[in-house]
Amino acid sequence: MAKGGARYGAGRPAYKIKGEQLQRIDVRIWARRGMLKRAGWFSWSWNRGGVPTGSIGVLVDSETALTLQYTVTTASGKRGIDERVSLAQSACNFGGTRQWFCCTRCVRRVAVLYLRGGRFACRHCQRLAYSSQSEDALDRTWTKQRKIEARLGENWQRPKGMRFSTYERLWAELRDCERRRDEALAVFVQRFIGTR
Ligand SMILES: [Zn+2]
Repeated sequence: MAKGGARYGAGRPAYKIKGEQLQRIDVRIWARRGMLKRAGWFSWSWNRGGVPTGSIGVLVDSETALTLQYTVTTASGKRGIDERVSLAQSACNFGGTRQWFCCTRCVRRVAVLYLRGGRFACRHCQRLAYSSQSEDALDRTWTKQRKIEARLGENWQRPKGMRFSTYERLWAELRDCERRRDEALAVFVQRFIGTR
């Protein structure tokens, strides 16, 4: 029964990404939720204002690699993609380790990968840039984020002794910092990012 292709039949066809919306994946969120601790599979989805805008399957191969499984719809039709992403770890101030994605194009260590042109890569490789007028506001979000991060443990975890309510507030503020930067992220199409 199992012939080529059947292997993917279980989950992948349902995982679709429409159009060119800017979708992002954040390794810190997955690490914080313990999704990268052991080999396995999970799905991840996005929505905008409650409306689903896409989802992917994530196959965690090991502590050092995972595979993103998704289908993109382009002018030339639908295409199933398996994108392998290496993971890296670095030491953290509080002990323990911090997780990183290695960009699929430049291998730079980054926390966030963006989908564009059917591929997940860092914002440099995806030619994403902030508009200059928003740079001051963005600098302030980074300053604020660093202050908050200095109070948290690895992968934004709650340090021993911190109240849950305090932690939840800091977490919400961090997400707000990131959301504001994402909203300010202007897409400059310098060239079409070809897919393999
Ligand atoms: Zn890159």
